[in-house]
Amino acid sequence: MPSRPGSSTQGPARPQRVRVKRKALESYRRVVGDEAVAGIREAAAELRGARILELSSTATGGGVAELLTSLVPLQRDVGLDVEWDVIPGDADFFEFTKALHNGLQGMPIEITDQQRAEYLSHNTAYAATLTDTYDVVIVHDPQPAAVRELATAGKGHTRWIWRCHVDSSTPDPAAWEFLQPLVEQYDRAVFTLPQFVPAGLSIPVTLIEPAIDPLSSKNRELPGYLSRETAAELGIDISRPLMLQVSRFDPWKDPLGVVEVWRQARASFGGLQLALVGAMAGDDPEAWDIYRQLEAELAGEPDCHLLTNQMGVTAHEVNALQRVADVAIQKSIREGFGLVVSETLWKGTVIVAGRAGGIPSQLEDGVSGRLATEVDEFAAAVCELLEYPTRARELGAAGRRHVLGNFLITRLLADHLSLIADVL
Ligand code: UDP
Repeated sequence: MPSRPGSSTQGPARPQRVRVKRKALESYRRVVGDEAVAGIREAAAELRGARILELSSTATGGGVAELLTSLVPLQRDVGLDVEWDVIPGDADFFEFTKALHNGLQGMPIEITDQQRAEYLSHNTAYAATLTDTYDVVIVHDPQPAAVRELATAGKGHTRWIWRCHVDSSTPDPAAWEFLQPLVEQYDRAVFTLPQFVPAGLSIPVTLIEPAIDPLSSKNRELPGYLSRETAAELGIDISRPLMLQVSRFDPWKDPLGVVEVWRQARASFGGLQLALVGAMAGDDPEAWDIYRQLEAELAGEPDCHLLTNQMGVTAHEVNALQRVADVAIQKSIREGFGLVVSETLWKGTVIVAGRAGGIPSQLEDGVSGRLATEVDEFAAAVCELLEYPTRARELGAAGRRHVLGNFLITRLLADHLSLIADVL
């Protein structure tokens, strides 16, 4: 059993500077074409040498880590001086910040004085380490949101951006009352969709949709034999149909609902397997409770494969599973964006996904995938796609074209360069 995120009694740990692989914009030319690459180079020339800090709460697991792992090296490659820090925290801090994340997505929460004090003490400790003078600091999500208020370094010169990755359209009042005064000290807030901007926010807003990296180990081309071999190593019988969900074990991704969908679909398609892949993000203590619930629910079900990053199911394995799956599912109830949807479509695999947050902008129902809300609707769509594989392939191919035109990392890089130029 993998271990929980550390619980420290020693006080806040030192900030973690994240090291990333190198990436070259030039390699993307063959995927996105000359014009996109030339546009990025032109925009980057104006920003050469700009000192940027990205600050998030985990370097692995979840969409933010996925984005920064590609965006940081690409920004460096085009001449910016970029660092990425992770705010250190202990179990109590991450338990509270997960509640805050849930509260931003609308779940009722209560905030105690002790939680408030602990949150601020972790943010203060990190802020005190910020001695460097950056041109722009981009703070991701609620975990490090107070750093802007608490930092003394670069107060006058630095531009501060708060990037919210969750669906904050109807935040719980207690959560937003806590965050609003912290967020309003930033020069700019960035949301994924216009409806995510909480009512009454008084600072300038920019909208940017996330994107996937077509050349990362999660998304790059894999030969069919290698995908099948990798899936077989994970216990999948590749001669039988496979349904897949890849997501953090999180109530908003409804993994128990996925099990219900699978059971309903299996009633029509005997032998249908389910792979539930769940990353254990370092800032997400809730995942363990859900993992245990799933284990209990799935005892004695050999055709359901419960797989985690902690047992070595990482980018390559996710890539392979997204290629061999007959149908993928993303049963989100609330969703900031849902990178997995574009990741799946990029492989030409059809997906049935929840009508939540950024998902409908990634796929059009009946054209480039299927949208659903209730378990019955998901199960019916899954069965239809298993019954008509040619139709499933057509939807997957249309999905891939849509991702190529709208959701690749070069578009996101261009958006970020223009955001940085805009605030400087
Ligand atoms: N992910 C992964 N392994 C897992 C579960 C998720 O690598 O077991 C990745 C997934 O491929 C995607 C990211 O984590 O890149 C999840 O991003 P998304 O926007 O879908 O959701 P978030 O976790 O940010 O809410």
